[in-house]
Amino acid sequence: MSASPVTATVDFSAKGRQSGHLRVPQSRDDHGWGTILVPIVVVANGSGPTVLLTAGNHGDEYEGQVALLDLARTLDPAQVQGRVILLPAMHFPAAMAGKRLSPLDGRDFNRCFPGDPRGTFAFVLAHYIDSVLLPLCDFQMDLHSGGTGMDIVPSAVGHFLDDAAMQEKTLAMADAFGAPITLLLREVNAGPTLLAAAEARGIVALSSELGGGGRLNPVNHAITARGARNVLHHAGVLAGKPDVPTAPRRMTVPSLAYYVFAPEGGIFHAADALGATVQAGAPAGRLLFIENPDRPPLELTYGASGLLWCARHVGRVQPGDPVCVIATDM
Ligand SMILES: [Zn+2]
Repeated sequence: MSASPVTATVDFSAKGRQSGHLRVPQSRDDHGWGTILVPIVVVANGSGPTVLLTAGNHGDEYEGQVALLDLARTLDPAQVQGRVILLPAMHFPAAMAGKRLSPLDGRDFNRCFPGDPRGTFAFVLAHYIDSVLLPLCDFQMDLHSGGTGMDIVPSAVGHFLDDAAMQEKTLAMADAFGAPITLLLREVNAGPTLLAAAEARGIVALSSELGGGGRLNPVNHAITARGARNVLHHAGVLAGKPDVPTAPRRMTVPSLAYYVFAPEGGIFHAADALGATVQAGAPAGRLLFIENPDRPPLELTYGASGLLWCARHVGRVQPGDPVCVIATDM
């Protein structure tokens, strides 16, 4: 594949703290040589591993964006051994719009890896991250949440891997992040994600789900901010051990049987609060049909027992939308 048209205003081989941009070409009607500036902060000192922390993959997930903004301002180069690369608003157009999908090309950035240097904005940026940034890295973590549509019990999320040694390293980093849950998944569509791209390059990598609902819950914010620093302690970039008050509960979502889907569009009225322990066959909630007051609500039931890990946050749902996801102990 051809070289990236993206350039960086920071020098990845330099020591100290640098705050700059990735310059991504974006032709417009009024400027064929227009560029979009994606903020990047690099903090390097001494010798040690490289950690890439990213947020704003989806623009309406604020937990990671705020945690990395704070970290980018406060990380002291004198305390770093190695290199930290921070992208607090990675998919910048979506982050500025506060939206999951890009206002430029309608893309979900986490479905664009490993990218294409001749594609639309999202593919060009994904290609740069995959082909230029990931090869610099030993560790990578992408900070997500449920965004506008979902609310999720804060979790470090990894994939089930065939390589047992990499699986152990992934679980160790997830536990060190220190969210209430360490969750391993086999994703339905993992291929085009940043996590899969990092795994393919042999990097110890994690995603995460750190709340959601399109807001910054103070409890989830604290977990995310502490977790981002914990990853740096775990990697050895910062001295000292990760601050993990309670060992994370290791869980998984074994199959689609652990999802509850809305068979029709309507208003979803959930039966349980996020984090509740639920039983297979029990009511998950009701779908109500505002267009027909005479129609009785449709009851939805759980297909599995476990922890209500992810819940629909917005009331209105479309046919086929997941409204609940159950996690079970590993
Ligand atoms: Zn996300």
